[in-house]
Amino acid sequence: MSIIKSPAPSVDIPDNVSLTEYLLRDFETYGDKVAVVDGITERSYTFAQLKVLFRRCGSALTRLGFKQHDVFAIYSPNLPEFPIVFFGVIGIGGTVTTVSPWYTTDELTRQLQQSGASYIITVPMLVDKVKQAMDKCEKLKDIYVFGEADGCTPFSSLLRDDGSAFPADVQVNPREDVAVLPYSSGTTGLPKGVMLTHYNLIANLEQMRSDALKLDAASDVLIGALPFFHIYGMVVILAVGLVQGVKIVCLPKFDPGLFLKCIQDHKVTRVHCVPPMALFLSQHPMVDTCDFSHVKELICGAAPLGKGLSDAVMARLKHPTIRQGFGMTEASPVTNLVREDHVVPGSIGPLLPNTECKVVDIESGKLLGEGEDGELCVRGPQVMKGYLNNPEATANTIRDGWLHTGDIGHYDNEHNFYIVDRLKELIKYKCYQVPPAELEALLLTHPGLQDAAVVGVPDQEAGELPKAYLVRKPGADVSAEQVMDYITGRVAPYKKLRLVEFTDRIPKSASGKILRRFLKDKEAKKQENS
Ligand code: AMP
Repeated sequence: MSIIKSPAPSVDIPDNVSLTEYLLRDFETYGDKVAVVDGITERSYTFAQLKVLFRRCGSALTRLGFKQHDVFAIYSPNLPEFPIVFFGVIGIGGTVTTVSPWYTTDELTRQLQQSGASYIITVPMLVDKVKQAMDKCEKLKDIYVFGEADGCTPFSSLLRDDGSAFPADVQVNPREDVAVLPYSSGTTGLPKGVMLTHYNLIANLEQMRSDALKLDAASDVLIGALPFFHIYGMVVILAVGLVQGVKIVCLPKFDPGLFLKCIQDHKVTRVHCVPPMALFLSQHPMVDTCDFSHVKELICGAAPLGKGLSDAVMARLKHPTIRQGFGMTEASPVTNLVREDHVVPGSIGPLLPNTECKVVDIESGKLLGEGEDGELCVRGPQVMKGYLNNPEATANTIRDGWLHTGDIGHYDNEHNFYIVDRLKELIKYKCYQVPPAELEALLLTHPGLQDAAVVGVPDQEAGELPKAYLVRKPGADVSAEQVMDYITGRVAPYKKLRLVEFTDRIPKSASGKILRRFLKDKEAKKQENS
C-alpha cells in the first residue's frame, strides 16, 4: 500500500521558456519538411514556414492591440492554420481558449464571457453564431476568419505582416502564465476553464517525448482526425507532432472514407483514435480495401477501450498494435500510456515519467494497494494550475497537491493501471464531454418539468448515452419527444438527450444531491436483464 511512482526515469522539464519558444527549438532541424497538411485540399505548411507565420501572426496581433495575458478564442474545426494562431498567440504571452465548433450560440457565449476572450477566430460557416454572441460579450473586440466573411478580418491579412512588431520584451513566467484555457466540467458541475500553464504543457510534451511517445521525425506521420479544440487532439496530436518534427494530416471532422483515404495516401504510421473509431476500424467493410501496411500502431484514449475491442482491432488490421492512454484536460492531458514495447490489452499502462498516483478508498480516503479498486489521484508537473475564477472547484479537485480524477481503477504487480468505472458525474458520448449538470439546468427551464436527473447509460457504439429521468409538473402533459427537441435546439449535437424516462421523483440524498449511482445501477440491472 503505497504511492506509486513512475517506473520511468525522471525527465528534466525546462521552466525558463514559453511554450512557443520550446516548440520552435528544433524547427531549424525540421526545415522544409511538411508540418501540417489539410486532408481535403492538400494545403500545407512546412516547419520553416510555420516558424515565420507564428511570428507574423504574433506581430500583427500586437499591432492590433493584443496584449500579454489577453485571451484569444479559437472556434474552428481542424485546419492547418489552427497551429499558426494557437502558437502565434501563445508566443506573445496570450492565452488561447479553444471552443468546440459544435457549440450553439449560447454555449459559445458562455465560454467567451467566462474566459474573458477579447478576440476570436472562426470559419465562415460559424460567423453568424459569433456575431450573435458578440452582442453579449462586451470584451470581444474583433472577429477573425479563416477564409472570408462580411464584417470579419481575414486571417490571411494577419499573415501579410512583416513580423517587425513582434514584442521583443515579452516575459512569460512559464510556471504561472496560462497558455491554454480549454473547458472541462471536471468531476462535477458546469464546464470550467482549465488553466494550463506553459510549464504544464511543456512538461507533458517532455514526458511523452522522453520515451512513452517518442516519434521519428524522418518516418512518422500522424493523422489529426480528433478535434484540436479538445486536449487530446490539441496536445497529443498537434503539439506532440510539431515538437517532434512529424507531419500531421488535418481532418476537419471524422469522415470514415476520408479518414481511411488519408491514412493510405499519406502513409500514416501512428493512428490516434478513440474507442468509437476503434470500433469502426474493427467492423466497417471499407477497412478491407485500405492499405494499412505502413501503420505501426494505434493509440487510443479519452474513454475506456476494453480488451475485446483491442483484440478485435488488432485481428482486423493484422499488423499494428493498439495501446491505450489515459488522461484528462486537467492533466494537460496524459498521465498514463501503455508502452509501445509492452502492450497490455485492457490497461491504460504505467505512469508517465515524473508522475505519481495513489489509489484511495472512495468512502474513507484510505490508501489502497495492488488490485484494489479506488479513486485514482495523480500528482505531477502536468497537473493544471486550477479552474479559472473558481477556487472552490479547484480546491475540491486538487487536494494536498493530488488531482482527484473522479475515475475508479487499480494497478497490478507491474504497476500497470486499469480503469474500471467513473465516480464523477461526467458522461462521455463518443468521447465528447456531456456534463449532466448542464442538461439538468436546461431541463429545469422547460415549463412542463419539475425535476430532472441525467445519467450515462452504457452503449457499445457511443460509450454512453445521456438519459434523463424527468418529473412532470402537476397537470403538464409534456412528451419525451418534446423534451428531447427542447434540448436538441439548445446544445451541441453530442450533448443531445438520447433517452428519456418519466418518473414520480428523482432519488436524492438528505442534502438534496441527486443519487446518480442509484440511477446508474438501475440502468445496469435493466441491461443485465434484457
Ligand atoms: P477529458 O477531460 O475530456 O479528456 O475527459 C477525461 C476523462 O475521460 C477521464 O477522467 C476519464 O473519465 C475518461 N478517460 C480518458 N481516457 C480514458 C481511458 N483510457 N479509459 C477510461 N476512461 C478514460
